[in-house]
Amino acid sequence: MSPRSVVVVGASLAGLSTARALRQQGFDGPVTIIGAEPWRPYDRPPLSKAYLAGAVDRASLDLSPPEEELELRWRLGVPAVALDPPAGAVRLADGSKVRGDAVVIATGAAARKLPGAARLRGVHTLRTVDDAEAVRARLLPGVRLVVVGAGFIGAEVASTAAALGAEVTVVELQPVPLGGVLGVPLGRELARLYAAHGVALLTGVGVAEVRQRAGRVDAVVLTDSRVLPAEVVVVGIGARPAVDWLAGSGLRIDDGVRCDAAMRTVLPNVFAVGDCARPEHGWTGEPTRLEHWTAAIEQPVVAVSALLRGDAAGTPEDGYRAVPYFWSDQFGVRLQFAGHLRGGEHVRAVSAEPLVAVYERLGEPVAVLAIDHPRLFGRWRRLLVP
Ligand code: FAD
Repeated sequence: MSPRSVVVVGASLAGLSTARALRQQGFDGPVTIIGAEPWRPYDRPPLSKAYLAGAVDRASLDLSPPEEELELRWRLGVPAVALDPPAGAVRLADGSKVRGDAVVIATGAAARKLPGAARLRGVHTLRTVDDAEAVRARLLPGVRLVVVGAGFIGAEVASTAAALGAEVTVVELQPVPLGGVLGVPLGRELARLYAAHGVALLTGVGVAEVRQRAGRVDAVVLTDSRVLPAEVVVVGIGARPAVDWLAGSGLRIDDGVRCDAAMRTVLPNVFAVGDCARPEHGWTGEPTRLEHWTAAIEQPVVAVSALLRGDAAGTPEDGYRAVPYFWSDQFGVRLQFAGHLRGGEHVRAVSAEPLVAVYERLGEPVAVLAIDHPRLFGRWRRLLVP
């Protein structure tokens, strides 16, 4: 039987996309959205880019449609603390319960913290608009910023901060930025961008200690004993799915909420979407958790169609099978990536300047990366095979 009421946990891109898909697919019952943050859904990609640079205002981040358009019930500023599936109830931190015939989990991911340094003043992570505002307030010209981690967020923060006049050093454990994600040759290309923008990149070295004076960060001590004086530290060492609140729910948790290709979890009428979900991916052919903006829009459409089908079986085409895609804006260029890497792919440049590289497995293109070449990127993206 098709549910008559839906509770969505997580009031961000995947949660709002779920509500939108429900209305677009004809559901007219009550939809409640629970959110830990006090804010209506807002867009995160600008937090490390234009918003951090002060180039756009808070209102421009807003993702919410006009209230009357979707007729949603909001419970904001209070996190869910437990899921009680037999009762169809989500328990909130204030002791109240929200019931629904179906529950969609969209609690995203939370930034990993640097052990021992998380509470120090001047040490930040970047996941929420409040984080971005706290960092932005510190990025004055001449400030010494150490960014820990040369992943996407680290690179974007470093690039934005350097443009604002900060003195930026990035510390990365791996030999090149994003080598584990994009491969070493492309990581080397990215390293060149750091140098060209006056950002010092220290690779193959870790953080031994974050030194403090009177409760405020004073320096970052590296594992090779070098000391980097710093007024601000931004830790960009990845994110972990925000699923701790689901302990004891009976869901299968394994680097996110495991679900089938229709985003159905092991519990009836419970679905997971966005950064917190790890579905059987129809295209990659394996359980795949994505922290990509586009996945947080695409997956809810699939989940809602399964939710409204009720017990009726879907076809494989109804499952989630979009080619993974993300972009990143750093050091004045746009990086676009599509596909899925398992390791050991052969990398071939199909354009040198601007760079477009195709990753091949058994002679077939399985992924493509482009730096500032959307047209060629689009052409190769259409040719990718799983
Ligand atoms: P989230 O956006 O993480 O939202 C989850 C929401 O659930 C949050 O509001 C959280 O507070 C809430 N929540 C958590 N726990 C609970 C609970 N127990 N109860 C209630 N609510 C809860 N992707 C790209 O493809 N390209 C980019 O350039 C890019 N840039 C990014 C820059 C930054 C700074 C960040 C942080 C992300 C970026 N991303 C980018 C990733 C993209 O923003 C995410 O993939 C997307 O936000 C995922 O949406 P989501 O709704 O699944 O999760």
